[in-house]
Amino acid sequence: MVTQCWELAGGTWALYTENANLEAAALQAGLRPMAVYSKHGRVKAKQFCGEAEAVKAVAKVQVPFAPFNSYANEFGEEVKLAGPKVKKACAACGRALEASTNRQEYCDRCRARARKQAVRERVARYRQRCRDVTL
Ligand SMILES: [Zn+2]
Repeated sequence: MVTQCWELAGGTWALYTENANLEAAALQAGLRPMAVYSKHGRVKAKQFCGEAEAVKAVAKVQVPFAPFNSYANEFGEEVKLAGPKVKKACAACGRALEASTNRQEYCDRCRARARKQAVRERVARYRQRCRDVTL
């Protein structure tokens, strides 16, 4: 059961789909989001409702299958974990880098070295401040 539709009441129908590619078609047809089904925190399916004709038309749309690639909280609301990747240059070597968060500065190659350098500098400052006990 990937996509299914049934009558709710008074000409309003519900559309259930496990196909993420059908979501755009459903929204474009004017269907309203109704419910998010999740399993172990991952979105498994979505349900929409709307006019009988619109729901039946969307149910017939042929699109390749794709699972929902998102997460849901304990209230069944969809949550976004990471936004779109930001293209920037590595602060150390300047190579192109697709950052998954705004704070990401270094590419995979430079990250470990940059972290070690930061630790070295921080510890040196700490020793200057607190550990200079020579009298
Ligand atoms: Zn780099």
